[in-house]
Amino acid sequence: MKYVLVTGGVVSGLGKGVTASSIGVLLKACGLRVTSIKIDPYLNTDAGTMSPFEHGEVFVLDDGGEVDLDLGNYERFLDIKLTRDNNITTGKIYQYVIDKERRGDYLGKTVQVVPHITDAIQEWIERVAMIPVDGKEGPADVCVIELGGTIGDIESMPFIEALGQFSYRVGPGNFCLVHVSLVPVLSVVGEQKTKPTQHSVKGLRSLGLMPNILACRSTTILEENVKQKLCQFCHVPEENIITLHDVSNIWHVPSLLRDQKAHVVISKVLNLGIINEPSMKEWTARAELCDRLNETVRIAMVGKYTGLSDSYLSVLKSLLDASVDCHKKLQVDWVPSSDLEDVTAKENPEAYKAAWDLLKEVDGILVPGGFGDRGVQGKILAAKYAREHKIPYLGICLGMQIAVIEFARSVLGMKDANSSEFDPDTKNPCVIFMPEGSKTHMGGTMRLGSRRTYFHVSDCKSAKLYDNKSYIDERHRHRYEVNPDMIEKFEDAGLSFIGKDESGQRMEIVELLDHPYFIGVQFHPEFKSRPGKPSPLFLGLIAAACGQLDDILLKKGVVMAANGLSNGNGNGSIPMKMHQNGNGNKMTSLSPREMAYSNGNGLIC
Ligand code: GLN
Repeated sequence: MKYVLVTGGVVSGLGKGVTASSIGVLLKACGLRVTSIKIDPYLNTDAGTMSPFEHGEVFVLDDGGEVDLDLGNYERFLDIKLTRDNNITTGKIYQYVIDKERRGDYLGKTVQVVPHITDAIQEWIERVAMIPVDGKEGPADVCVIELGGTIGDIESMPFIEALGQFSYRVGPGNFCLVHVSLVPVLSVVGEQKTKPTQHSVKGLRSLGLMPNILACRSTTILEENVKQKLCQFCHVPEENIITLHDVSNIWHVPSLLRDQKAHVVISKVLNLGIINEPSMKEWTARAELCDRLNETVRIAMVGKYTGLSDSYLSVLKSLLDASVDCHKKLQVDWVPSSDLEDVTAKENPEAYKAAWDLLKEVDGILVPGGFGDRGVQGKILAAKYAREHKIPYLGICLGMQIAVIEFARSVLGMKDANSSEFDPDTKNPCVIFMPEGSKTHMGGTMRLGSRRTYFHVSDCKSAKLYDNKSYIDERHRHRYEVNPDMIEKFEDAGLSFIGKDESGQRMEIVELLDHPYFIGVQFHPEFKSRPGKPSPLFLGLIAAACGQLDDILLKKGVVMAANGLSNGNGNGSIPMKMHQNGNGNKMTSLSPREMAYSNGNGLIC
């Protein structure tokens, strides 16, 4: 295993995560298999308890790990699936060591940061680097490790010490350190200043780590004399100094590295023997296409708007993936949901008017996931507006629950319909607490990670967008769900429950079949969207918002027909039977007895 460690200097927010992911993309384009580890030196065991409005979104993995949003960058850039252990935190390491100490594993020794914590860090890295993450067997060739924070932070000291020991242990040909730093340009003289980088490299050296590559963030390309200066003072060869100047979109970064031969330098340091010029056609094409787009598609994000767009990072990335696929320039209009509420009309009429004016201008509405009751009423009003005015709507997790509550109130006339999360005493609890495990034990009740959804209706937009597969696996993060006892009432009034779990008790997808696009999902499709492979439901939203949905569904239909899958049983994986109800074809999975009678296609009509 070869390791590339990415550290950051001078200031935070330099784009270390994007740099590390782009290095991964570059190495992958050279034919290598790449995995990654993110180290977060905070004390939280994982990101699950951290506020997305302070720290950015909590990214959810297949295995239910609630991790730092940088793991989302790695998954999207490298098209891999990471595990919770790929995110190391101080909390996790200390917990591991303290648990060992309590078991008596240290045999009476004094347990110390060095060597016990530092050993645990190294063991963790070596173990996790071996886990295959790209769907192939056996370990990857290269593991990119990103150390969060900035060199010199007190919190990261044990990790720096551990990584110093680790680089020595694995040997020089197996360890490459890329230090991402800042070269500011002083506006008065327009000069690129090297001193901050010199200082941060000095800091790095004093802690026992020698950089092999300097990746310098700057507004402009580094001038030759600046590179020479950095080379002289930081003891890094000139060809190993790479400029990461500002670019119009982050998809340019892998090509930026390739153009400066970063792969050749890394190959030399790690003896990778890369000879072929990596082809990054797809990345370049996508980055250039993104720059050229000028026709806009406007989507309203109705949520708790706090100004930190990282709180909804994966949702934004998914919207972007889908817009680029539809050749549209994405414009996200942030609508603070509480501004849509009647109370705001009285307290702050200007904000109220601005929010409604914005909502009425957009091409599509998205209500993302969320916790707590702030702004819920505003979200319900947004869903109502989308339903009544036939505006494309996608509700994710809480956004789906909102759509169901709104339907119960407006269509079923249940004025007090609510989620028991917001009103435990409601007479019409259409969303209820449904722990997957114990109903009495309140801790750890979140339904997390990848779960299966079976399609029960095939003649609908969501099933078609998912290529009429009989089931899909998407990631979850919630406690509350649609009340299964009320489904019949909803269905009779026209709200269809398209997807359910294997028990048929958990509602996963709702859709209004007589609406241009009104879909709610209990899962979070945003965690599996990739550039070039947008999540189907985001693609549907954007396509519906810009009038391309029929074309897309038609194209999918043609492809499916060509593959012999036009009967609504994609992949032929789960045998299904179909029967009619008022709302379209319904599909239910077969009982074992019926299974025995199903035909080769797995379909009984
Ligand atoms: N608060 C809701 C629940 O726990 C929705 C969660 C979410 O949107 N992620 O079910």
